[in-house]
Amino acid sequence: MTGKESKRQIARIKALRKKWYSPLRLFEWDITWKYVDGDLLVDGALAEDAAAVATVDWRYRHATIQWNLRLIAAQSDDELERIFVHEVMHVQVNEMREGDLHHEERVCQTLALCFTDMARRLGD
Ligand SMILES: [Zn+2]
Repeated sequence: MTGKESKRQIARIKALRKKWYSPLRLFEWDITWKYVDGDLLVDGALAEDAAAVATVDWRYRHATIQWNLRLIAAQSDDELERIFVHEVMHVQVNEMREGDLHHEERVCQTLALCFTDMARRLGD
């Protein structure tokens, strides 16, 4: 990916960070945003099909959200927004995690759909 294309993808994420900063109460968290040109490293393994991954330490309200710029380049603006809100939902619900991620994924996806649909109905 060229530097110019990388910057274009990062700008898309930054626009979503700005849009959702207040509605999703991102100001309550210390979030590190990482932009990677390729596969993301999660717990020592490459996550080849993950467009984004959130790692959260809810005790201290710290999170890192990594972005695979190559994969998000293929996403429409609407899909990228759903992925963005989904990852932030992982930050919000992480402390409820029990066992595997299946229930958490379903909850995060449902909340992401609720928030993005509501934003659309309210005219963004
Ligand atoms: Zn997820």
